[in-house]
Amino acid sequence: MIYDAIIVGGGPAGLMAANQFEKENINYLLLEKNEKCGKKLLLTGGKRCNVTNQLPIKDFIDTLTFKHKRFLYPALKKFGRDDVISFFKIRNLDFVLENNFKYFPKTEKSLSVLEALTQDLNQAHIRYHQSVKEIHKQNNHYQLITKDNTYFAKHVIIATGSNSFPSTGSSGDGLVFAKYLGINYFDFTPAETHVYSNQIKQNFKSLQGISLSKAIVKVKQLKTTYQGDLLFTHFGLSGPVIMHLAEFIDQDIRENKSSILEIPFIDLNQDKLFEVLQSQNHKLLHKVLETYTTKRIVEVLLTHLNIESKKIIEIKKKDLHLISEAFTAFEVTIDKVEDKEKSYVNKGGIDTKALDPQSMEVKNNKGLYFIGEVTDLHGPIGGYNITIALSTGYLASTDIISKLS
Ligand SMILES: Cc1cc2nc3c(=O)[nH]c(=O)nc-3n(C[C@H](O)[C@H](O)[C@H](O)COP(=O)(O)OP(=O)(O)OC[C@H]3O[C@@H](n4cnc5c(N)ncnc54)[C@H](O)[C@@H]3O)c2cc1C
Repeated sequence: MIYDAIIVGGGPAGLMAANQFEKENINYLLLEKNEKCGKKLLLTGGKRCNVTNQLPIKDFIDTLTFKHKRFLYPALKKFGRDDVISFFKIRNLDFVLENNFKYFPKTEKSLSVLEALTQDLNQAHIRYHQSVKEIHKQNNHYQLITKDNTYFAKHVIIATGSNSFPSTGSSGDGLVFAKYLGINYFDFTPAETHVYSNQIKQNFKSLQGISLSKAIVKVKQLKTTYQGDLLFTHFGLSGPVIMHLAEFIDQDIRENKSSILEIPFIDLNQDKLFEVLQSQNHKLLHKVLETYTTKRIVEVLLTHLNIESKKIIEIKKKDLHLISEAFTAFEVTIDKVEDKEKSYVNKGGIDTKALDPQSMEVKNNKGLYFIGEVTDLHGPIGGYNITIALSTGYLASTDIISKLS
């Protein structure tokens, strides 16, 4: 039998496509390598699943950091935040807006999101334990080979995800298919993850556990800054701002073996802090610093600088400069970004230049589509990635439906 469409992968992207096929009575199959769909989806948002966010399309796209971000316009225009919310609402799942930005299911359970994505699917259309090993083009249809079966379809949607958290099934298979089908792609690399620093691990144990809110962190060699909460851990640094900048220093570390971040403990620039210290030179150093940051940070940094707290007037100018620098632009050497397999998201995937942004179809392989995180489209933490998966899943499946009718 030649199916009208086969979806490879039952994550949010593949499941959204399946929902559209089901609605239109398309003769389709979804092949999933695991014993169930949405294993990664269940882990998302601390098992609460941050499905989308409140940004309008333009702002959503503006926040993305890759050059070809405008590629996403057609997908988000056709199926954006409001469509995502109403898709679930129709299936009796309401959302709550957290911090005026992230949408989570009211049930606080990612399982509810998975249930809503699967409730309308006829189980006869889903084949579990079917890890697709090969995809071949044959005249005007495709042949898909698993360990024990061969399937044929006029249209194929590849929704196999990236290489992050391979234990959930996302083991990078989409790029293997792309390779032998001659479709351009970029290797997966880590994004949205923490970073390792021997300096913190070995010399700054006392900083471990300290968190900074809305810190403006500078990547020294890139001369770019990122803002968000930051946490000193037993292995290095974590927190949203670190997760976000990790992908930008990953390349740097692989080329230069390390990367330097400048972290402010005080919300003033170096010259301003120097000025403040000088203007209050009759006061004790630690007392002045403690008006800007915590006692613990003051203690740790002064110990590190080997500078004793006394009246500022008694401290050498050279040392005041050192203090101003350490408190406003504390340099932390990063030795490693977490591996792509342990990162929440991966950068890389199918080159968007090979895809039609109006449909996600491969330009030189008609009938073949890539959707979700297997494509070179990803966003920061905050519901961007699931939105991208759902939106591209909708775009590809509705394109196939229009071709079949
Ligand atoms: C811990 C964690 C938390 C996250 N939290 C959030 C969040 O709150 N909000 C957010 O927006 N994003 C979050 N993400 C990112 C988000 O989960 C992914 O971007 C999203 O799941 C990608 O969806 P997808 O459908 O493209 O791929 P996936 O969800 O990776 O699904 C791919 C599916 O394809 C199957 N598959 C793979 N290869 C084959 C094959 N050869 N044959 C058959 N089946 C195959 C897999 O088993 C899997 O079921 C998080 C990620 C992680 C790891």
